[in-house]
Amino acid sequence: MVSAHAARGLLFNRVSPALECSNVFFWHRTLNSGKPLTLVGDVARNATFGTAKTGHSMRVLLVEDNGKLAAVTHDAMRAHGFTVDHVSNAHDAEEAVATIHYDSIILDLGLPDRDGLTLIEPLRKIAPSTPLLILTARDASSSIIDALDSGADDYLCKPFVMGVLISRLRAIMRRGEPRHGTILQLGDVTFDPSQYSASVGETPLSLSRREFAALHLFLRRPNHVLSKAEVEEAIYGFDDELSSNAIEVLLHRLRKKLQAAGSALYIHNMRGIGYMLREKRP
Ligand code: CA
Repeated sequence: MVSAHAARGLLFNRVSPALECSNVFFWHRTLNSGKPLTLVGDVARNATFGTAKTGHSMRVLLVEDNGKLAAVTHDAMRAHGFTVDHVSNAHDAEEAVATIHYDSIILDLGLPDRDGLTLIEPLRKIAPSTPLLILTARDASSSIIDALDSGADDYLCKPFVMGVLISRLRAIMRRGEPRHGTILQLGDVTFDPSQYSASVGETPLSLSRREFAALHLFLRRPNHVLSKAEVEEAIYGFDDELSSNAIEVLLHRLRKKLQAAGSALYIHNMRGIGYMLREKRP
């Protein structure tokens, strides 16, 4: 498996301005195969992520060849706190799923290089437990039955209401979570991903989307060393441009916020190895 950090080192070029669509930019990126992978990124939002709406960090792969629909979906999902990677054909979808761990996949059935239906089984082999939602312009019940029987978890017929897509996505992702595990508690920190809230004792923490994502990651694996690449992979999308010290800066801000709220928890920097959330030594 190639980490996001390693993958990010590959080609990442902005293409002609003619391909720009509103405030969304199209990027090319090359994964293992050397074949370009077309992705959508919102550069403007990257610059202001610190003030972005707080949300959880679920990373979603959007497989959709209709550029306009993909751009609108991408923007709506990011506004709801998802990290979204977009690809526009079956080949790139397979490669992305083999490279990155996704919390969920949205798959259009009408793709240029292959029928999306035939992609469900291979994706299931690579990522057996990743929730998969089908988008289809076909209202024939037979194709919906085929999709669900092949391993899709839910479907939505086009045209669809964006709010319904986001709710269905959250619903299929909840199915995989332990029912009692929604609210995380460690030491004096309480974290509720469904409410996008975190607090130290009674003191609420005001976190940016990425700070929230980082804290969520550490709370899921307390007293465990996470490498820089693991943190990057969980928090940033394909389209996010990272400076070399982005993770350090992010974790520095998170530490300061935990400290200001009086938390006994601290994100330790294990030099050369990674980071660990645990109580400060007395
Ligand atoms: Ca299509």
